[in-house]
Amino acid sequence: MLAAKIHLKHVSIVTTEGYAASPGGSQAKFMAEVSAEEQARNKNLTPAAFRDYQNGIRPAGPGARDLIDHFESVDEEILAMQASSPGTRPGDEEVIQLLARRAKTLRLGIANYCWFADPSRALCLILAGTPGSDKPLVGMCDSARCPQATHHGGHRPVWASSAQNKKVFIAKIGRGQRDEKARLQKELDRDLRVLSEIDAATGTAA
Ligand code: SF4
Repeated sequence: MLAAKIHLKHVSIVTTEGYAASPGGSQAKFMAEVSAEEQARNKNLTPAAFRDYQNGIRPAGPGARDLIDHFESVDEEILAMQASSPGTRPGDEEVIQLLARRAKTLRLGIANYCWFADPSRALCLILAGTPGSDKPLVGMCDSARCPQATHHGGHRPVWASSAQNKKVFIAKIGRGQRDEKARLQKELDRDLRVLSEIDAATGTAA
């Protein structure tokens, strides 16, 4: 996921340079190309999550039940298509079409997928007091509590690294900094909970 972000940034930089050097280039055209790149990427990530689901690798996180329900409904549509044309299997393009509406809501967080389908349920917007916004506030994301967030196997290293860093900090905190220690311990407990949920959902728990 981080690689995807870096790739997108790279594409943005290359594209910006291209427009700067090209007479008649425009910001709107540049933004349209970046947006197209994001949509293409999301189009692939959603089917990948769906294939994981079909292989028994489930999403975790507060939005997992919602995403699983959606995948179940897509699975039922695929079965109905197969029943109506025995001997045929929907191809990748047809599956992508079935997932398209959900794929359009996907935003990438640092440590989660954000399925931004309903702004009124977005925890970041609720915390910021801007529930009417049409974009999530990724900088205020609290994916461990937001009902639109899911965590997948690819997010595990980010959470593991976060937990490890906190363990190191906590070990170094002096006796006089009780509040700071308690705050970090609470965050560490959250990280460890997210990790165990990812492991249970993806089938990698020890
Ligand atoms: S809190 Fe995070 S997952 Fe939830 S809507 Fe905001 S950015 Fe998306």
